[in-house]
Amino acid sequence: MKILVSDPLAPEALERLKAAQGVAVDVKTEMTPEELVGAIGEYDAIVVRSATKVTGDVVAAGKNLKVIGRAGIGLDNIDVKAAEKAGIKVVNTPAASSISVAELALAHMFALSRQIPKGTAGLKAGKWEKKALKGVELYNKTLGIIGTGRIGRELAKRAAALGMTVLGYDPYITQADLGDVQVKLVPLDELLEKSDFISLHLPKTEETTHLLGQREFAKMKKGVRIINCARGGTIDENALYDAIVGDQVAGAALDVFETEPPGEHKLMGLDQVIGTPHIGAATIEGQYRVGIEVVDRVLEGLGVQRA
Ligand code: NAD
Repeated sequence: MKILVSDPLAPEALERLKAAQGVAVDVKTEMTPEELVGAIGEYDAIVVRSATKVTGDVVAAGKNLKVIGRAGIGLDNIDVKAAEKAGIKVVNTPAASSISVAELALAHMFALSRQIPKGTAGLKAGKWEKKALKGVELYNKTLGIIGTGRIGRELAKRAAALGMTVLGYDPYITQADLGDVQVKLVPLDELLEKSDFISLHLPKTEETTHLLGQREFAKMKKGVRIINCARGGTIDENALYDAIVGDQVAGAALDVFETEPPGEHKLMGLDQVIGTPHIGAATIEGQYRVGIEVVDRVLEGLGVQRA
């Protein structure tokens, strides 16, 4: 079996793949779309992260392709419909990076509430801006989590341990599904009205596009802080900008953007907005788990024995 790895994988994962019986592995990162279409015909499987786009053209040219492995969760970079139609299995690693993403959301909550990036920038510029950096505690505050799936629940556990009250909104989850995780499920409007922090942990679908827009920001508590480590486009960025400039929202921390990279985005021009370049899953531990899991799932899909 020939397997193409077209985005970087954790070294341990690559070793595990190479050690499997009867498998030949080629690692070719940064291929152009044309190069990929030209090369894919000889491979039985391809392993990608988010950079490689497995388009309909790639699927059509992949005459021997049996499995597409996505090291990560989102399948936005894979034409899943075309793959399914061609009888190609698409496998991913939905749970492997949940803790990394939850920790990033928490890190953003702390960074926003204490203005850590602003403090750092001031110090580096030789300033000592104590008065401008009065923050708020997370303790005793209410966190609203929109989307109480894997990541939402990991965040909820950590927030509860900090003494926060945690509300959740998720139309596809019942209170019983949450077991002993301390989240109280409420309607969206109640979450918007009561939360001091709102963190998004849901996929981007037609239904969730611009889930937070002008109407929702107007419903929120004045001074609310918003965190998005889920997907760009779930927040209407223009409405968020207006809500911050209008002092309704105190700050926002964004790991994801409607267009990535966002370039010189007007939101990033605001002092109250901090950000990271889509690094939710980018930890040593997260990438290790993601790599090992995708390798196992690809080998399983090919019916190949692990070493
Ligand atoms: P998950 O499937 O376990 O949970 C998502 C939850 O969202 C589900 O419980 C679902 O019922 C809920 N949901 C769906 N539609 C909803 C709606 N209209 N309103 C409220 N809730 C809704 O997924 P997860 O593993 O927790 O991942 C959550 C998000 O995080 C995904 O969008 C994923 O792409 C993103 N993610 C981001 C990074 C990053 O690098 N920033 C890394 C991994 C995952």
